[in-house]
Amino acid sequence: MTVTNADVVIIGGGIVGSSIAWHLTAAGCKNVLVMERESAQGKGSTGKSMGGVRAQFSTPVNIQMSLYSIPFYARFEETLGHPSGYRGQGYLFVASREAHMAYLRANFERQRALGLKTVEMLPAAEIGKMLPQLRADDVLGGSFCSTDGFVDPYSAMTGFMARASEQGATLWKKAEVTRIALDQRGVSGVETTRGHVATRVVVNAAGAWAAQVAKLAGIDLPVEPLRRMLVPSEPFDDFPHSSPMVIDMSNGFHFRPEGRGFLLAWNDPAETHGYKTDFEPAFVEKILTLAANRVPVFENLAVNPKRAWAGLYEMTPDHHSVLGAVPQVPGFFLANGFSGHGVMHAPATGKIVSDLILQGNTTVVDDVSVLNFDRFAKGALLEETAVL
Ligand SMILES: Cc1cc2nc3c(=O)[nH]c(=O)nc-3n(C[C@H](O)[C@H](O)[C@H](O)COP(=O)(O)OP(=O)(O)OC[C@H]3O[C@@H](n4cnc5c(N)ncnc54)[C@H](O)[C@@H]3O)c2cc1C
Repeated sequence: MTVTNADVVIIGGGIVGSSIAWHLTAAGCKNVLVMERESAQGKGSTGKSMGGVRAQFSTPVNIQMSLYSIPFYARFEETLGHPSGYRGQGYLFVASREAHMAYLRANFERQRALGLKTVEMLPAAEIGKMLPQLRADDVLGGSFCSTDGFVDPYSAMTGFMARASEQGATLWKKAEVTRIALDQRGVSGVETTRGHVATRVVVNAAGAWAAQVAKLAGIDLPVEPLRRMLVPSEPFDDFPHSSPMVIDMSNGFHFRPEGRGFLLAWNDPAETHGYKTDFEPAFVEKILTLAANRVPVFENLAVNPKRAWAGLYEMTPDHHSVLGAVPQVPGFFLANGFSGHGVMHAPATGKIVSDLILQGNTTVVDDVSVLNFDRFAKGALLEETAVL
């Protein structure tokens, strides 16, 4: 039997696994093997994503991950010779309650203090000028960041993987990891549907399936799948296609331009955890009601429910990712639990995980230890309230 050896095995060939592979190979660690159980990349959450990227978060670690990732996406083509589809059309948070204004103001101060220069607080009148089509009778104001925007997650993922492959990485498709082998030193290899691979370093980049992969290493990882549904509209010209992502904070409804129409999203609070990926036709009615409530011209928006889809968020109890080594299993690293932000944080995650594997520390964020796995056991949870 041929024995394959790898310096690092990455489980999962979505945008996170691909970014880690690129960052590792760019840093000189060439013998990297990415395991993807599907016949093609992108069949997990990456291919279902809305592609939003923003630095408007409330915690320093999330803001700093975006401060690495968004400029990375903006320069993606220059660096990797492949388009990321980045469009800096901004994110506009629209507040109609005083509590939300206070929240945005506090975030704005924190974001500015961390060096985000492109974020501003907007009075209601400015929002009205920017997008006169919004119903503004209850609007108190909002915040806008011009460098937030959207990317094409599939293109960024394939760009990362193509260049990682040129730099020495290998992608195995139809390769499901079924066992993580351990010895007295820690990780010693992986068993896959395509054979055994000897390695001392395994990275869990399995998205919404991360808990199952962690179990293979004997770890209970609190990452749970949560369905999210997106509804694209038919072509529509009565709202500007140059619009930012607009978030109605009163109910969480948000939308952005997509092609000649708009992509509508709303995280239904009634949704429960589980591997549900069917699109529910009744969701169309709910989301169109929210849409027309904030944007009256959206009453005329045509939607074909057959073009709508559902995918999975990978939720942690505190809506923050889990990154880094697992002390109980030497050689086992986590890049999981993005809670709906895995596309926007994939570049930073790739750099952080590569740094932690190769040198044991990173400067991408001030304190990466806040994202450690052991925060759950210690009860040291973070709270990010701006989950979209
Ligand atoms: C509707 C929707 C909208 C979203 N909108 C946004 C957004 O606007 N902005 C944003 O940043 N994020 C968004 N997200 C979240 C984002 O898509 C995810 O956080 C991101 O794609 C996670 O990437 P990943 O590579 O970790 O996971 P995935 O893309 O799911 O990749 C994991 C891969 O691991 C593979 N795998 C699993 N188990 C095994 C195994 N045992 N062996 C081998 N392979 C395995 C799977 O087949 C899969 O391909 C959205 C998600 C959804 C569903």
